[in-house]
Amino acid sequence: RTVYVNGEYLPETEAKVSIFDRGFLMADGVYEVTSVLDGKLIDFDGHAVRLQRSLDELEMQSPISKEDLLEVHRELVRLNGVEEGMIYLQITRGAPDDRDFVFPDPETTAPTIVLFTQNKPGLADNPAAKKGMKVISIEDIRWGRRDIKTVQLLYPSMGKMMAKKAGADDAWMIQDGFVTEGTSNNAYIVKGNKIITRAKSNDILHGITRAAVLRFAEEAQMEVEERNFTIDEAREADEAFITSASTFVMPVVEIDGAKLGDGVPGRVAPRLREIYLDESRKAAI
Ligand code: PMP
Repeated sequence: RTVYVNGEYLPETEAKVSIFDRGFLMADGVYEVTSVLDGKLIDFDGHAVRLQRSLDELEMQSPISKEDLLEVHRELVRLNGVEEGMIYLQITRGAPDDRDFVFPDPETTAPTIVLFTQNKPGLADNPAAKKGMKVISIEDIRWGRRDIKTVQLLYPSMGKMMAKKAGADDAWMIQDGFVTEGTSNNAYIVKGNKIITRAKSNDILHGITRAAVLRFAEEAQMEVEERNFTIDEAREADEAFITSASTFVMPVVEIDGAKLGDGVPGRVAPRLREIYLDESRKAAI
């Protein structure tokens, strides 16, 4: 695989980052994951805008312009022959001479930028979407700025392991009695023709897929309600689903061991998945 590190395209075995990199020492970095379908980028613009927001919120400089970033994404897709998959991008505050809590001077310490591709044939035609997924609920003990897409992913990773150990696929996190989001996705429930999802705030990541799906839902005359919901309300909903750049729309059929309805995907989530895939493919660049 060819990867991109600080301006260079290299074989992955030759790519290097300093042990003093603040991404490595302090999780002082941000990331984005953009999906690729038919060799094209899905919602590159949305990801680029959110990346800039994450950088701004952390007073971090961008080492690359949006135009060049698009070029690097396209070049990696081309070099690695990705038809379906993902592009991972990470920018950290770079590697100062020593470990220090104080941010390094951006004049002397440049950010580190890394991109690599992940080939995932069958991403769109994922059999998991036909079966639906199982989630458990866990307490949300992450920090208070989940709207910034940082590489601080230890708790989401632990949540995924808790789910795995419980025989489930993912965990929905609960704060003050209400569902925030999944470990790496936004969470939704469906009641009748109404799609309910938590409103944007510092408590959740503002999903790029979330924005697109809510827009498509409204265009398809579905009702969207942005509000908090409890795990009990979710268990009694007609349907539930998640969204993310790597899973698109994925039905949830079981919550904490209790089946939702018949325990198979309903009407709304599969339809939204289809619309999302169709529209995203059309708009891909
Ligand atoms: N919430 C969290 C915590 C996530 O990690 C992600 C995906 N990285 C999402 C939501 C979904 O965001 P997107 O649709 O932009 O992939």
